[in-house]
Amino acid sequence: MNPPAQREAALARLTSGEPLDLLIIGGGIVGSGVARDAAMRGLRTGLVDQQDFAAGTSSRSSRLLHGGLRYLEQGHIGLVHEASVEKKTIHRIAPHLAEPLGFIFPTYRGEGRPLWQLRLGVKLYDLLCGGRNFQPSRGFTEAETRALLPALKAEGLAGSVRYFDALTNDARLVLDTLRSAERHGATLLNYMRLAEARREGEVWACTLEERATGGKFPVRTRALVNAAGPWADRLPVSAVRLRLSKGIHLVIDRARLPVPSAVVITEGKRILFVLPWGERVILGTTDTDYTGAPEDVAVEPSDVAYVLRAVNQFFPSVALRETDIVSSWAGLRPLIANPDGTPSDISREHEIKSPEPGWWDIAGGKLTTYRLMSEQVVDRVVRHLGVAAAKCRTADEPLLNAEETTPFSGIEPAPFVREAAEHYVNREWARHLGDVLLRRSGWHYSRRFSRDTVAQVASWMAACLGWTPAETAAEIEAFVSRECRSPAD
Ligand SMILES: Cc1cc2nc3c(=O)[nH]c(=O)nc-3n(C[C@H](O)[C@H](O)[C@H](O)COP(=O)(O)OP(=O)(O)OC[C@H]3O[C@@H](n4cnc5c(N)ncnc54)[C@H](O)[C@@H]3O)c2cc1C
Repeated sequence: MNPPAQREAALARLTSGEPLDLLIIGGGIVGSGVARDAAMRGLRTGLVDQQDFAAGTSSRSSRLLHGGLRYLEQGHIGLVHEASVEKKTIHRIAPHLAEPLGFIFPTYRGEGRPLWQLRLGVKLYDLLCGGRNFQPSRGFTEAETRALLPALKAEGLAGSVRYFDALTNDARLVLDTLRSAERHGATLLNYMRLAEARREGEVWACTLEERATGGKFPVRTRALVNAAGPWADRLPVSAVRLRLSKGIHLVIDRARLPVPSAVVITEGKRILFVLPWGERVILGTTDTDYTGAPEDVAVEPSDVAYVLRAVNQFFPSVALRETDIVSSWAGLRPLIANPDGTPSDISREHEIKSPEPGWWDIAGGKLTTYRLMSEQVVDRVVRHLGVAAAKCRTADEPLLNAEETTPFSGIEPAPFVREAAEHYVNREWARHLGDVLLRRSGWHYSRRFSRDTVAQVASWMAACLGWTPAETAAEIEAFVSRECRSPAD
């Protein structure tokens, strides 16, 4: 079936009139995890996203599977333990999307955390993995730290510690989770918004609205999960109260900042990461309150200045400038509202609420804890439905089976070839240029694309999707005007 026919068939399944067991709103990592879990347990499952899958926060993170060393400092031991166990679980079920990575955390005399405290902290962090961490943490003397990171500011350096977390590819984790959900029978539609939902006895009567055509479609479901991330408090019925916090990342050439592993740097109480990503390095992030529309979040010049200043303080000889930036992204943490404290202080714990029978809100949490969040909400849905569903198997069953892994899905950008673009359109629901260039391939994040290269990819997609020359030109224009500007403009 060609992609338009696949979409028609999926829509026909959702709107057949026979109620679904579960409709999930949001195809970020949480919604995708819920869809996979529910489908594996045998529920008749549908999922819709108003944009592309992963186009919300789940393609805009720091890409870490981590317990969160800094939450230890805040005393959130339970959260660190939970996330540390989950990082190992994801490594087990999706090793192609969890690359163990050492983090060197330097410390300076008379500033910030003393070395002894860091050494103790990383040992505790190792213990919280529910077994062994990827590798044991260790300390480095001042001289050893300088040998590892010759460009690091030497003045006042006391030494460092190294602990282990894993690097993932956030959007790819979503897409591979959805591929697994689909294989287990879930029906998935991107660019399809939940517009209305009304309870009629035991069933929710919903209206979906298609982004491109404005077409409205009725769907009936016995249960509904609101996994709409930063939009979760905007859905009808939702009882979620969010406090959105913006974070940005910058990508630079690794030759400009050659680091052998990840580096943790500090800015006041905050910590930032320097993350090696193939031939590039990812720098981030910020943590500032955000009150605008979630879809408008963008990297501002002040965000860029903050990150460059923090990195340059630790690597003064490197002297990064705006012209070094290859690409950038901005995202919103959907944190559970707590009016007190700075965004960095707000807990990353998740919350599940059921404001009405058959409706669940799931909000907060982290990329790392998505599987556990999904398991907890699907347990409740199964209890509500009163069906004899299978047990949760998402911690045991590999995310993809052998024939599903392709050279076009991994942590680093995929090879820039036509075959990859065709795969994304024909097998992974890509409908617009950003779906291929940003989320499925990562190409545009790893190199600055010219209009000509964008047009090349558009011509490959046009052949699969049947775009007219005018539609192709509009796609190119929309992508270039949005994504080919420098964040400092
Ligand atoms: C800067 C930053 C760095 C981070 N770093 C990390 C990290 O390193 N490790 C980690 O574990 N976590 C990290 N996180 C947290 C993590 O990224 C998020 O917790 C997670 O991605 C949230 O996923 P989600 O599915 O809840 O939301 P989203 O990914 O935003 O998905 C929600 C989806 O719902 C859709 N939607 C909304 N309304 C509707 C509607 N009416 N109809 C249909 N669809 C709708 C949206 O289009 C969207 O795609 C980071 C977050 C940020 C912002």
